[in-house]
Amino acid sequence: VAKTGDGSSGESVVRVVRVKLAGRSYQIRIGTGLIDGVGRTVAAACAPSTAFIVTDRHVKPLYAERVARSLDAAGLRHHTITVRPGEKSKSAGALARVWDELLANGCDRKSAIVALGGGVVGDLAGLAASTVLRGVPVVQVPTTLLAQVDSSIGGKTGIDRPHGKNLVGTFWQPSAVEIDPAALSTLPDRELRAGLAEVVKAGVIRSERLFDLVERRAEPILHCDPGVLAEVIELSCKVKAKVVGSDERDTSGERAVLNFGHTVGHALEAAAGFDRLLHGEAVALGMIAAGRIALKLGLWRAEAQDRMEKLLARLGLPQDLGGLDLKDDAVIDLLKSDKKTVSGQVYFVLPESIGYAALHPKPVDLALVREVVGTLRVKNA
Ligand code: NAD
Ligand code: ZN
Repeated sequence: VAKTGDGSSGESVVRVVRVKLAGRSYQIRIGTGLIDGVGRTVAAACAPSTAFIVTDRHVKPLYAERVARSLDAAGLRHHTITVRPGEKSKSAGALARVWDELLANGCDRKSAIVALGGGVVGDLAGLAASTVLRGVPVVQVPTTLLAQVDSSIGGKTGIDRPHGKNLVGTFWQPSAVEIDPAALSTLPDRELRAGLAEVVKAGVIRSERLFDLVERRAEPILHCDPGVLAEVIELSCKVKAKVVGSDERDTSGERAVLNFGHTVGHALEAAAGFDRLLHGEAVALGMIAAGRIALKLGLWRAEAQDRMEKLLARLGLPQDLGGLDLKDDAVIDLLKSDKKTVSGQVYFVLPESIGYAALHPKPVDLALVREVVGTLRVKNA
């Protein structure tokens, strides 16, 4: 933790997490008000000829002007490209429009992209950065909790195709990640809660300290207290940075642990329709399901499962499928067709204690999966 005097509002704390990669490492900086310092970071990280802010129509009126002013203050020329909000912008059409607007406005090989927004903008802008002119640097400035703790770190970019989500993309590590927890104050409540599901995930798989912190400070977190959020974000980023650093390109199997809650989660998300269940909400249900499977297999204790379920409930995340009318068969079929499924056999990341989960070496019997998914229908199963 480094302290910097910022003059106006006294001392503000900047937390730094380093992502160590074989070729090149970069810094994640977390601190209230950092959005006003993006220009300096961009100048230091890539000294571009021109900076292109890529953002969406919700985020632009909230934060793009502040980023633009900071680029002015750093003496950088800039241009803003705005896409439509939402998952639909992770499309080939939107990507082509970003390429063309970059090229029409003087993008050259010395330019840099500033991705200002949630995971949609980060994934799209990252893919545009990695492909235009065979690649220009990108600085991620995530503005949703999900993007701040998860999608902006790790270098995966992508767009969706009719066959499924994230099926076309690249690995393109950011030059820097600049996180301002105060930007979450404008985020819709439901989006904040969905992001918290990924925070709980990080805690369960690798950080009991993070899990404890969220348990102790759930109320200020839900009220968007930037100081507590900064600590939560720092610990979450540390988990992701460590896992990604040990498996940059998702080849050794290490990175699989980040998929805790995502096996059933992805299937529920697809079965419900992506507009009915937010990703984080589906992950919360997926973690409950994975925990119940681990319980049945005798891998973890009922008290730990109870603690996890109670915390998810306090964070306002779903405990069951509620009004969603999903067919168990549809969910199981989706599980079998998941891109991570190997010849019809479904593998799970299962928790062993709060702070440790691992990819279970054997496939889980589909009858057990079906039974557990069935328990999600009933309140307090
Ligand atoms: P999102 O980008 O769609 O943002 C959610 C909504 O919040 C949008 O309407 C957006 O305009 C709005 N918004 C963003 N910041 C705001 C702010 N500060 N105030 C008010 N409104 C704001 O969704 P998301 O949940 O951030 O990201 C989801 C995407 O992330 C998915 O496409 C998913 O595939 C991707 N993802 C990628 C990775 C990765 O490793 N690359 C990991 C996880 C998820
Ligand atoms: Zn996720």
